[in-house]
Amino acid sequence: PEALEEGELRGPMDGYPRVRDCLTRPLAQRLMEGLQARGDDVIQVYPREGVSWTARQVLQRGLQLAAGMQMLGVKPGDRVTMVCGRHPEYGPLYFATLAVGAAWAPLNHTFDDGDLRLLLGIVEPRVVLAEREVADRLRPLLAELQSPSTLAVLCEGEEWAALATDAAPDTWPPLPPPPADPRGAIAVVACSSGTSGLPKACHSSHFAVFGALSIFTRDESLDGISDTMVFTSPGFWVTGIWFTLLTMVHRTRLVYEYGCDEHQFLEAIEKNRPPVIFTANNFLLSVAKVHEASKPRRDLSSLRSMLTGGAAISRQAEEFAASIMGAEVFNMYGMTELNGGIGMTKRSQSKPGSVGTLGALLRCRVVDAATGRVCGPHEEGELRFKGPMLAQGYLKNPQASAELFDATGWLRTGDLGLYDEDGFFYITGRIKDTLKYRGVHVSPVDIEGVLEEHPAVHESAVVGVPDPVEQELPRAYVVLRPGAEVAEEELCRFVQERVAPHKWLRGGVVFLKELPKTTTGKISRAAIRKQFVLQQS
Ligand code: AMP
Repeated sequence: PEALEEGELRGPMDGYPRVRDCLTRPLAQRLMEGLQARGDDVIQVYPREGVSWTARQVLQRGLQLAAGMQMLGVKPGDRVTMVCGRHPEYGPLYFATLAVGAAWAPLNHTFDDGDLRLLLGIVEPRVVLAEREVADRLRPLLAELQSPSTLAVLCEGEEWAALATDAAPDTWPPLPPPPADPRGAIAVVACSSGTSGLPKACHSSHFAVFGALSIFTRDESLDGISDTMVFTSPGFWVTGIWFTLLTMVHRTRLVYEYGCDEHQFLEAIEKNRPPVIFTANNFLLSVAKVHEASKPRRDLSSLRSMLTGGAAISRQAEEFAASIMGAEVFNMYGMTELNGGIGMTKRSQSKPGSVGTLGALLRCRVVDAATGRVCGPHEEGELRFKGPMLAQGYLKNPQASAELFDATGWLRTGDLGLYDEDGFFYITGRIKDTLKYRGVHVSPVDIEGVLEEHPAVHESAVVGVPDPVEQELPRAYVVLRPGAEVAEEELCRFVQERVAPHKWLRGGVVFLKELPKTTTGKISRAAIRKQFVLQQS
């Protein structure tokens, strides 16, 4: 790695040789070797479907699916999309996609038609896999896009299963050669909001995937990551994507519990006896509450660490969950575009309110976004990153891709934070416009667009108001047309009828005479947050 830049902090750098290895040893080969080495270890468990996979089975099924994909016409450089929160075939399909040189591009099935249409148009998947109900929604959307690139939309069940060929292996087409340019060839496309809010398809190269895996596969990485982990991330979120790969090359066994309720989650801990769980912090809190009220209580004695991420957690909530569940909470910081983040290292001592120290191979500096000045310890600024695991940008969005990096190549997160004299980071706020409801990014622009269709609305701005359980609730600040009248409930209902549930105005509507503007005349959501939201909390 290059010389230290001004004000730069670094995570452990000893994994670099392993990442460079990628330039000569392809990703699919590395996964294959990892799966062969893990042999009969159970690596992926789906308790509610009654399915568990050994590494050998994932490899066999993956190769069968890879042959089927090739027979269908999937080629290197294509994209394969699964629109589903969880599915037992997730691991084998993911491996198969990489083995045929295509990119794995899962999408969020809870998105509304508008967002799905937009993302399908960007991703242009060759194959789409979805549960029946979702597939029925997707077909007309794909037809509207007149997307000739899609070869098949396969419903879960027989159609999906038929993708895996039952032809004899000696008739399978040979796997394609590895990409000539591992730094350019796309391995993963993940849905993201970036810093401006509209859904984007963030792409990461084979090289970046190697970089990300190297964060975790160090011996001294995250507590408990080398063991059984009960896990609630959906397959379309970056943690679902990364941790699944990790089961193939590391000692991790994932118990997939996305979509479970609190009782099922507690039962999964008792049954699987994991030392570590990974879940959204709002869900962790409701699990702790259910556990506190349960008689008799489940046996959670295996638990050592509870990993959360994706949003801030209050000190009280962290302490409550830790005392009820009997294990420490580690809230980590990350971003899809980072393919990693802060808190990815083992913490023998954690600091209250901190998200931890920098992950391996990650370089960070804190910059005053207004002046570009590089900040020192205890000074708040925007967190910016460099490292081999960073995403390259967004598909079909050169402007957002360019804006993702500053003039000196540092990735801008749009998040505010600071670090202390020991390199522990604290997330203090956000300069970007997105808000997060239950871990899902909500674009203010989308809701404002809907509100402005209402005849009584002159202009509006949507911001997130903090909520101890749901992270942030979308709230609209609205200016009405002269003489117009409308009740808060009507506007909420109007939005509710038109968008996906994570965009509903659960934070209510506030009527104002005018909205704060920037000097260039744009509505300033930052000023609204400062003037109305932060003063209240
Ligand atoms: P995603 O790309 O969906 O993982 O969302 C990334 C964004 O979530 C970050 O840019 C932050 O705004 C927010 N975020 C992630 N982790 C934390 C955390 N520990 N504390 C506060 N905000 C967080």
